[in-house]
Amino acid sequence: MLIAANWKMFKGPAETRAFLEGFDPPAGVDVILCPPYASLAAAVESGRHTIYAQNVHWEPSGAYTGEISAEMLHELGVTGALVGHSERRQLFGENDEMVARRARAALEAGLGVIACVGETLEQRESGDTELVLKIQVEAIAFAAGDHPNLALAYEPVWAIGTGRTATPELAREAHAFVKGILDRPVLYGGSVKPENAAELLAQPEIDGALVGGASLDPDSLAQICRAATS
Ligand code: PEP
Repeated sequence: MLIAANWKMFKGPAETRAFLEGFDPPAGVDVILCPPYASLAAAVESGRHTIYAQNVHWEPSGAYTGEISAEMLHELGVTGALVGHSERRQLFGENDEMVARRARAALEAGLGVIACVGETLEQRESGDTELVLKIQVEAIAFAAGDHPNLALAYEPVWAIGTGRTATPELAREAHAFVKGILDRPVLYGGSVKPENAAELLAQPEIDGALVGGASLDPDSLAQICRAATS
C-alpha cells in the first residue's frame, strides 16, 4: 500500500525538517513525500522517506523559466514526481499533452511518476466522468504505456481540499474504469483523512492514497498510514 503526501505550497525547509523529526509511520506502508521544490533538499537529507517533486518538465534543460527538469531532480536525490495534479490543470493551464510529455520524460529519465486524473463537479453532473477519465488516462497511456514506475491517482476535483470525499463505491467504480484503460496501481485522492482512510483503502481497486491537507500534520499522516496497514 502506497501513501503519498502532497504538501502543495506549504512547508519551507525548516518546517520540513520539523515534520520529519515528528513523523513515525508504521512498517509495511510505502510513504512518498512531495514537498515544494524549495524543501526537496531538506527532505532528501533526512534519508528516511521516498521524496517526489510536485511536477517536472519534459526537457532536460532550456529556457523554461520556473520549471525543473528530471535531471535536476535526480541530482538532488529526488526519485519521482507528481504530474497532472488538478491544481496544475485548473490554475496553471496544463493540458493532457503537457501532462503526458511530463510523465514520459520523467519515466525515461528513471524517475517514478504519479499521474493525476479526475473530473470536475460540472463534468460529473453532466454525466461526462468516464469520457473525461478516458481522455486523460489515454493521453498518459499513449505517452508512457504501462511503465513499471508509473502509478495513477484518481482525484475527483470536487473532492480536493473540500472535505467532500468520494464514497468508497464511487471511488471503486472510477478506479476500475481507469485500470481498464491502463493497468497500473491507482491511488485515491480527495479529502482523505484519518477518519475515512480505512474504509477507502479497504476497497480492492484502491492501491493507496494521495493526501493533501491531512498530510501536513505528522500525526495525521501517520494515522492514515496505520489505516493503510490494517
Ligand atoms: C491533493 O492535493 O492531491 C489532495 C487530494 O488534497 P486534499 O487531500 O486536501 O483533498
